[in-house]
Amino acid sequence: MKQNLITLGMVLGIGLAATGLAARPSIPKSMIDAGKKDATCMVCGKKMDKEKAQKVLVKGKEQLVCSEACGKELSQNPDKYLNDDGSRKP
Ligand SMILES: [Zn+2]
Repeated sequence: MKQNLITLGMVLGIGLAATGLAARPSIPKSMIDAGKKDATCMVCGKKMDKEKAQKVLVKGKEQLVCSEACGKELSQNPDKYLNDDGSRKP
């Protein structure tokens, strides 16, 4: 009998956990994209770790590059890599 109670408790626990997960609001896709760990450096095209990337403010937007050298290149030649509105050139 004790065994049955434990099993019932586990089932209830899992059920509650699943309900809690389902009730969570879904995350917009744009936020998931922004949270991606990998990015490409727009200057040299190398893959970089977003956490280690350098942030450079160019054309009013924060841009991510892989290194200080690439940041310097980007701030010296912003038109080569960025559109006028600060978005990244393809
Ligand atoms: Zn780079």
